[in-house]
Amino acid sequence: MPARSPFMQSDSPRSPSAQRRRQIQRRRATALAALGLLVLVVSIIVDGGSGTSRRTPPSPRAAERQRIHIAVSAARHRLAIEDRAIDHVLSYTPFVTSGGGRKREVALTFDDGPGPYTPQVLKTLHKVHAPATFFEVGFMERWFHASTTQAIADGNVVGDHTEGHPKLGLLPRPQQRDQIVSQAEWLHKLGAPRPRLFRPPFGSFDARTFRVLRHNRMLMVLWSVDTNDYRQPGVKVIVRRALQGAKPGGIILLHDGGGARSQTIAALPEIVKKLRERHLKLVTVPQLMLDDPPPRGQPLPHYLSGG
Ligand SMILES: [Zn+2]
Repeated sequence: MPARSPFMQSDSPRSPSAQRRRQIQRRRATALAALGLLVLVVSIIVDGGSGTSRRTPPSPRAAERQRIHIAVSAARHRLAIEDRAIDHVLSYTPFVTSGGGRKREVALTFDDGPGPYTPQVLKTLHKVHAPATFFEVGFMERWFHASTTQAIADGNVVGDHTEGHPKLGLLPRPQQRDQIVSQAEWLHKLGAPRPRLFRPPFGSFDARTFRVLRHNRMLMVLWSVDTNDYRQPGVKVIVRRALQGAKPGGIILLHDGGGARSQTIAALPEIVKKLRERHLKLVTVPQLMLDDPPPRGQPLPHYLSGG
């Protein structure tokens, strides 16, 4: 008889006692699995319950509304004064291309955001303590509304640049109204102040646009300096163009959306530095309207398609 190997089973797999053992093992495994599942479910419920009360952060939209509320409350007095300044300007002109030029103030304005480059633009402006005015496209808020919140929290002003960036001059009045009002709705959802400033995409507008703006108490903000930065002509060219036309009361057109904006971002510190070397103070457009309102009877610029 061969010696029994210590690794050999004492019973053959088919013996009645082996079958019984396997049955017990299966039952144990099933019971353990059920217990494990129960522990998992209970832990999820308990964790979820405690998380709701202690750890779950508010939804981004609620958090953003709160940030904007805090920023707007802190600036309530200034915003009310600027609102009245815009009302005053609207009492004698429906559009502006610049301030009056009596004070050494200029306004940087950014179109076509919010977008993937807006956080960097905001960071750069914040670093050099320069406020700006952003004319935003409503459609982009779906993805980039956090930048709108950041812009307002930083003390910038957000204006209306339509919902979908069309040439308004080609649209009937109801569609023009929808384009302007839809963007304002996005800002309302975020808890931002109602936009008082509007900039027409492509500088395209007509008499119907002015009727819609009048109804919504909005001032059309054009510009006196066009850097054409959206064509990405190079950092030096953007800086040179911004400075060439920068005079007291100037409104400088830049872009934070509508394509790659690395050149604009790289140009910004130099633009701000050089403007300050000329003793020009950087302000938002409402601040410019308050400090240095435009003269009556500003002509509509010839470079625009509107009329
Ligand atoms: Zn635009």
